[in-house]
Amino acid sequence: MDDCIFCRIARGEIPSDIVLEDGAFVAFRDIHPIARVHVLVIPREHVVSLNEFAGLDDGAGDALIRFMVRAAEQLGIKESGYRVLSNVGRDADQIVQHIHFHILGGEKLGDFR
Ligand code: AMP
Ligand code: ZN
Repeated sequence: MDDCIFCRIARGEIPSDIVLEDGAFVAFRDIHPIARVHVLVIPREHVVSLNEFAGLDDGAGDALIRFMVRAAEQLGIKESGYRVLSNVGRDADQIVQHIHFHILGGEKLGDFR
């Protein structure tokens, strides 16, 4: 995906504040943070949303979860707590069409219910 902004971040073609990366995933700070710590986790592979991610090889979800916990640890919020969310599609107002997981923390988070 040549023009996908998150593919370009994963390839290092546009600047981002990366906090953790490995061969499969990248975690970088959101440019419009809504919490003291606000990081996005993406797979390097272009996948639109959870709907398509569910069709990847067995193990992709496990690796993703382990990576997100490593990111939380790296950010110093593993023990204090954090929230993970992913917007999927129209009703959730998904803006960037490359799956991403928001990790929010670093302060007491509001009640989202
Ligand atoms: P959504 O698709 O609704 O989950 O929102 C996309 C998120 O990506 C928003 O929180 C944006 O602030 C964030 N975002 C968009 N472009 C960038 C970028 N170049 N670097 C970091 N975060 C970004
Ligand atoms: Zn992409």
